[in-house]
Amino acid sequence: MDSNYISECATGVAGLLAMGVGECIAASIILEIFLHTKLAFSRKINTQEELTSVVEEESKRLGIDAPIKSTLHGELEGVCRKNYDGYELHVGGWFARRSVVKHELYHICKGDCDTGYINKWAGRISFNFVEEPRADLYGIFGIKL
Ligand SMILES: [Zn+2]
Repeated sequence: MDSNYISECATGVAGLLAMGVGECIAASIILEIFLHTKLAFSRKINTQEELTSVVEEESKRLGIDAPIKSTLHGELEGVCRKNYDGYELHVGGWFARRSVVKHELYHICKGDCDTGYINKWAGRISFNFVEEPRADLYGIFGIKL
């Protein structure tokens, strides 16, 4: 085997890998745009009382025992995080919807808010390719993965 042949093969394999990774990233971005758009078309939550009630109902459905402090905001918001005595869930604007609450609660249920990643890239890959699509599927369709 001559070195030109090996070099050509290595270049070909590297090109195919780069195309595969690029296609995965593009497909993931398109899927996320589609799923996040779908999330925003469930019933709107208009008051803090309504949000508290939805969080209570949906967290029971998922078997979450930890205390969750929910806050309705005026601006666009959809996030959850762990705090010292439980979790916080913030929604607002166009994202103040039951499906977004379900999405955020699924992150809590799966421990996505608790994870400490070894490095930033591992966290980014896990978030984009596992945690977000999984939470979207539950938020929109009720599918538990
Ligand atoms: Zn999410």
